[in-house]
Amino acid sequence: MEKQLAKLTARLMEVDDLNRATAVLSWDQTTYMPPGGAAARGRQMATLSRLAHEKFTAAAIGKLLDALRPYEESLPYDSDEASLLRVTRREYEKLTKVPAAFVAKLNTHQAESYQAWTEARPANDFALVQPYLEKTLDLSRDLANFFPGYEHIADPLIDFSDYGMKVRTVRALFAELRSQLVPIVKAITSQPVADDACLKQAYPEAQQLAFGQSVIEKLGYDFKRGRQDKTHHPFCTKFSLGDVRITTRVQERDLTDALFSTIHESGHAMYEQGIQRDFEGTPLAGGTSSGVHESQSRCWENLVGRSRGFWQFFYPQLQTMFPDQLNAVSFETFYRAINKVTPSLIRTDADEVTYNLHVMIRFDLETALLEGTLAVRDLPEAWDARYQSDLGVRAPDNRDGVLQDVHWYAGQIGGVFQGYTLGNIMSAQFYEAALRAQPTIPYEIAQGKFDTLHGWLAENIYQHGSKFTANEVVERATGQPLTIAPYIRYLRTKYGELYQL
Ligand code: ZN
Repeated sequence: MEKQLAKLTARLMEVDDLNRATAVLSWDQTTYMPPGGAAARGRQMATLSRLAHEKFTAAAIGKLLDALRPYEESLPYDSDEASLLRVTRREYEKLTKVPAAFVAKLNTHQAESYQAWTEARPANDFALVQPYLEKTLDLSRDLANFFPGYEHIADPLIDFSDYGMKVRTVRALFAELRSQLVPIVKAITSQPVADDACLKQAYPEAQQLAFGQSVIEKLGYDFKRGRQDKTHHPFCTKFSLGDVRITTRVQERDLTDALFSTIHESGHAMYEQGIQRDFEGTPLAGGTSSGVHESQSRCWENLVGRSRGFWQFFYPQLQTMFPDQLNAVSFETFYRAINKVTPSLIRTDADEVTYNLHVMIRFDLETALLEGTLAVRDLPEAWDARYQSDLGVRAPDNRDGVLQDVHWYAGQIGGVFQGYTLGNIMSAQFYEAALRAQPTIPYEIAQGKFDTLHGWLAENIYQHGSKFTANEVVERATGQPLTIAPYIRYLRTKYGELYQL
């Protein structure tokens, strides 16, 4: 059995090598590659992805998994070996159900649709992408139908990114969250909007980058096993457990864009850097779901990075870095500015209170599209109507409305948005559990010490990689199934104090 297992892991390692090489090419494409490299780079990445897919779905892998099934069943569920076999089998069954010809068709369509979107958005021209989106919807339905027996057609698509979550459970969580959020938003927005002019002064790029790096180094991002470069849309990528990189962008007239995206991406990266080292090269060596991944970035960005204690430590340092801009700005003004709440049009710019309403709109619209209760041609109107009723704002055009997010135009419809809000919900549940276990965490944060929190997250979440599903991680780490209660408690406490609610 050991021999069979060694054979399997050797094959999995080759698949991972190909995938990591694709990641290097992709990182280079979005950071340093000159425009002339685009065409060949696309082809090179497609070739590597195809080879990785062929290798992973090869019959030999299926045979090894079959041969190892009795061995897996003889081991405890939470052993590393049983988990490796379980997670590999799940992935294998998922990928072998989708024919290679369909994958190729989908990839080609996605590239064309993305191209159309890059023209349609600046031109404010929904009609240009409508036929592409209609085909994306057909293909998304086809993709779901390779997994018959689902309860809701979006369930198999949700499984790709948030395994084990269902439309039914997500809807119930979101409905409960919405009923609690709407009154909080109403109470806050009935008061004067916080003044954030102090954040919109001239902040030179070099100092912004230096400050952001000094912050995440303190949080525990390991620069010996990572680095930060500039890009258009910040992301985190991994070439191995010893090389987890992040990217950022700087706006010289907005202090918060680079800073909070750097903290956000470092949260994703610390998760990956914290995975047990001997999982390297296997399907266990990655975050377990988009929700859990987002919980880690949001925990550091919002629960820690926008907290009073965090800035009690860092604000004097920020003032030293930017004396002309900030010496006359009181701590309270700064703290209120970085926690300004106001209903807005753009999801990625939204504050942490209204953010989830943006996600829920997208989740409801994409499930309606998949169900066939909403037609693509009616999508812009449905979008505007929901923004009006949920957030009280209306986009002046489709550019800042239905065309704002790349997701539907570069991938699939269904299963792509729920992870953001699941992550917010989980972030508070994890944080509350960490504070229960280690009540000194908030005092340490106010002194610029993050080891205890980092250690708790590493112990309870990071090290396991993909060994456990999102639901299992939540239950094991917090002793409870996923619940919105800690998230609502967190928002009520923080914004209750800020706005005397
Ligand atoms: Zn993220």
